[in-house]
Amino acid sequence: MSMQLRERGLAVKLAERIREESKRVLSEHGGDEIRIMNFCGTHEWTITHYGLRSLMPPWINLIAGPGCPVCITPGYYIDVLVDVSFEKDTVVLTYGDAFKLPGSRGKQPRSLFHAKAMGGNVKVVYSFRDAITEAAREPGRRHVFLAVGFETTMPSTAIPLAAGEVPGNLYVLSAYRLTPPIMRFLAEAHPEVRLDGVIAPGHVSTVIGAEAWRFIADEYGIPVVVSGFEPLDVLLSIYMIIRNLAEGKPRLMNEYSRVVAPEGNKYALNAMWEVYEARDSYWRGIGVVPLSGAVHRPRYSGHDFFESTGLRETVTDDKHPGCICDKVVLGLAKPTQCPLFMKACTPGNPYGPCMVSSEGTCRIWAENTPLL
Ligand code: SF4
Repeated sequence: MSMQLRERGLAVKLAERIREESKRVLSEHGGDEIRIMNFCGTHEWTITHYGLRSLMPPWINLIAGPGCPVCITPGYYIDVLVDVSFEKDTVVLTYGDAFKLPGSRGKQPRSLFHAKAMGGNVKVVYSFRDAITEAAREPGRRHVFLAVGFETTMPSTAIPLAAGEVPGNLYVLSAYRLTPPIMRFLAEAHPEVRLDGVIAPGHVSTVIGAEAWRFIADEYGIPVVVSGFEPLDVLLSIYMIIRNLAEGKPRLMNEYSRVVAPEGNKYALNAMWEVYEARDSYWRGIGVVPLSGAVHRPRYSGHDFFESTGLRETVTDDKHPGCICDKVVLGLAKPTQCPLFMKACTPGNPYGPCMVSSEGTCRIWAENTPLL
C-alpha cells in the first residue's frame, strides 16, 4: 500500500490537476494565492521530505501548523522536572522527543538532557508501559512521567490509569494538549494567517474522529480534509481542498477513511475522558488557549504530579531571545526567516523548541531541505 501511495507518475498527474484546478479557482473566485495549512508535524515531514512544495504552482502556499506537541510544551514543566530529577529517590521519565527540550530559567535554560549530564536522575522511555515497568521495578522510588502529546498519545496513559494498572509510585505530569481548540484559537485570534484550506491530522483523528474537524468548515467557512501521511495522501488532500474551493461550499472531507472513522475510536475516547478533563491551558510562547489542556479528574489525582507535590502550574517567560518558534507554530513565519536557523540553532544543538522534536517544523526543514 505505502509504495502505491508514493507512485511518482500518479504524483505528477495529481500535481498537474492541482495546478489546473487551482488556476481556475483563482480566476473565477479572485485572489492571487491559496493558503493551505497542514496541522500535523508528520504531514510537514511528508511535504518537506518528498519535496511536495516543489510540485505546487507558485500561487499555492503550504503552511506548517501547530502540530508538534514538544514545541508547545511549557518551559515551566521542564524547569520543575529538572529540579525534581535531583531529589532523593526520584526518577524522571521522558520520551526521547522531549529529552532536549529547554526549560525557561536563566540565560541558558536547562533541558532534562542537561539535568542528566549534571547527575540528575532522568531516563528515556519508549512508552508509558515502559514507565510502569520502571516504577514497578523500584517501588521505593518516586517516578515522574512527562506526558507530552496530543489526543493520539493520551490513551496511552488513560487506559492503564482507568484500568488501575499504574503503581502508586508513578506520577504523571500531563502536558497533553488538545488539537481542535488550537485551530479554533488560530481562526479567532490570528485571522491574519488567512487560511483557504486545512489538512487535519490523521493520527489524532484516528482517536477523536473526522467529525471533530467539522467546525472549521461550518463555522469558519474553510474546507478541511483529514489526511493520511503518504505523499499521494497529501497531494490528494490538497486536490480535494481545491475542488471544494471550486464548489464554493466549504465542507469536511475524509481522505484517510481507510483508517479514520467519523466518530473516532470510542474505546480510546472513553478512557481519555474517564481520566482527563479539558482545562484552559498554556501553549509555549503562544498563550493560554481555552479548554486546550487535559488534567486528571479528581479520582485520578493520586497519580497527578502537581497534586502530589502541591506545586501550581505556572506560566513563565519561555520564549528564548531571537527564537520565533511561536510564529512558526502558528504559521506566521517560516524557519528560514529565523536568523538563528542552522546557525545558533541546529538539530544537534537545539536552541528553540521547534528544533528539538522530529515533529518540529524547524527540525524537519533542517533535516529534509536540500542544500541547507
Ligand atoms: Fe527557534 Fe531554532 Fe526555529 Fe529559530 S530555528 S525559530 S531559534 S527553534
